[in-house]
Amino acid sequence: MSPIVEEDRQILDSSSDAFVGMDAQGLITEWNRAAETMFGWDRSEALGQRVSDTIVPAGHRRAHENGFRHYLSTGKARSIGEPCLVSAVRRDGSEFPVELTRWTLERSGVTQFYSFIRDVTERERRKQLLEKQAYYDDLTGLPNRRLLLARLETLLVRVDGHSAAVEEGLATLFVDLDHFKRINDSLGHSAGDRVLVLVSERLRSAVRPADIVGRLSGDEFLVLCPGVTTFDDACSIADRIFAAIAPAVDLGTDSVFLTASIGVALASQDDDAETLLGAADNAMYHAKVDGRGHSVLFDPEMRREISSRLRLENELRVALAERQLRVYYQPIVSADGAGVVAAEALLRWEHPERGLLLPAEFIPVAEESGLIVSIGQWVFEEVCRHARDWIAAVRSDVQLYLSVNLSARQLAQADIVTMVQRTLAEAALDASRVQFGFEVTESVVMRDPVATADVLRQLRSLGAHLSIDDFGTGYSSLAYLKNLPVDTLKIDQSFIAKVAESAVDFSIVKAITDLARALSLTVVAEGVETQPQAEAVQQAGVDLIQGFLYWRPQPLDALIRRFGGSPSSPTTGGEARGHTR
Ligand code: C2E
Ligand code: CA
Ligand code: CA
Repeated sequence: MSPIVEEDRQILDSSSDAFVGMDAQGLITEWNRAAETMFGWDRSEALGQRVSDTIVPAGHRRAHENGFRHYLSTGKARSIGEPCLVSAVRRDGSEFPVELTRWTLERSGVTQFYSFIRDVTERERRKQLLEKQAYYDDLTGLPNRRLLLARLETLLVRVDGHSAAVEEGLATLFVDLDHFKRINDSLGHSAGDRVLVLVSERLRSAVRPADIVGRLSGDEFLVLCPGVTTFDDACSIADRIFAAIAPAVDLGTDSVFLTASIGVALASQDDDAETLLGAADNAMYHAKVDGRGHSVLFDPEMRREISSRLRLENELRVALAERQLRVYYQPIVSADGAGVVAAEALLRWEHPERGLLLPAEFIPVAEESGLIVSIGQWVFEEVCRHARDWIAAVRSDVQLYLSVNLSARQLAQADIVTMVQRTLAEAALDASRVQFGFEVTESVVMRDPVATADVLRQLRSLGAHLSIDDFGTGYSSLAYLKNLPVDTLKIDQSFIAKVAESAVDFSIVKAITDLARALSLTVVAEGVETQPQAEAVQQAGVDLIQGFLYWRPQPLDALIRRFGGSPSSPTTGGEARGHTR
């Protein structure tokens, strides 16, 4: 019956691939040794059985038989002569992947169908492993950034001009753990790893099975929720995530509590994967800036804001390179009327089109982009240059204390102390004439009191005075305050504004002043604009006053003139520009 002759059969038996023949009824006509080992049926058992019952898994039988019938009636078949990957089943019922090469042979009017079948279990396993390494995060087993972007891309794909993600909805949640670095730094990387694995499990449990949870990098996770069309629904998912990660994490001897900041963006027309991810990332950034541990939505207004912020950021880079930035000085007077004792350096931007800009218009962007670090360094260098000019121009018995603002980003900079030290050394200023100080806002100090205190201590060892700025708004813990290496408290302007009319505000100013007294700190009232305010803060007992009532911020040359000196150096810019803001 079979056109295979005995000599051929010997060759086929030596093959490591299974060789299976079948007639037009679908019954087995050939079965070599390799087929016996691969499938577990002896040749004598297999011959005459239906192929589909013997080696095709139950779930594939219908398709197999339909395909075969289709071939018999039309002569057309999938992959004749071409290897294809299918599933096969062994005698014990276990399924495994095989590569199948089929062809047909006609001899003396009888058509026979043959297949070489190769077990590719090992090859497929290796392939899957490689895929897993390329697309999944090692630590948590979650999809990695690459796979997340690919999934997003698929969800956003436009079919006939319609994107399912846009029509049926897709919410993207960017989840960033708060203060994760602290866990890593204080408890070690293996504790950090355990936290990340746990968070990945908690995230998975907080969302539906159809949602995709992946890890972007470090402590950043992304959750994709198809079918979500409203911010309300997206926010309730965010709430579930907050709740899921809130329970204490037990790390053996320590246990920690986790919070996260979540940025939410909904897919909209024309989004591609990168844009949508960027939108969620940005919303997350806003959530962090607003105070960690909550979620922020990304709306079209924010999109506009981002593009104008980007423009401003670029202009600011140019401003730094092309010397459009200026340092102004606002004198600080002693409350007993003895005159100017200090001045605060305040940054201005002489914008080529928009005129003189105040810090409020560009410092936030400088902070966010990190530009504040190089800007801050420039400010300090400029103040040192100005100090030299001031010393040269003003009578030698006049002393001045110059105070420079430091931002959170600058303080976090590992080399801030080295920068200050180097700049001071290069300036080689006469310390009997000019002294330096730095101002750090209370909220920045309280964000990380331990680390900040450490940096402040080092700055102080360089001879700098230290002030806590905007005091009264940052929820200082008195315990920390006691141990902070600072010299001065600057009472926040918001309390000064109503100090003359409001008994409550007066009591606050008085209480802060008494507190400072007890801790041997100097107190500055900032933002004094009227005579009644000046009298009230004097009555409260402050040491120094800074405010428009006495002086506005002004360029160095104006300051020098008021001290009776004459501006000599060209860097101080000749005649004062009319406006002082
Ligand atoms: P700040 O450190 O609290 O500085 C005091 C601000 O109060 C200054 O605003 C000053 O012009 C203003 N001021 C002083 N007296 C009065 C008054 O009587 N009434 C009113 N309404 N305002 C008064 P400015 O110059 O606009 O600076 C705003 C903020 O920008 C500063 O607040 C500081 O946080 C930041 N900043 C300024 N220069 C720098 C800098 O070089 N580096 C950094 N990182 N931040 C800076
Ligand atoms: Ca200040
Ligand atoms: Ca202030």
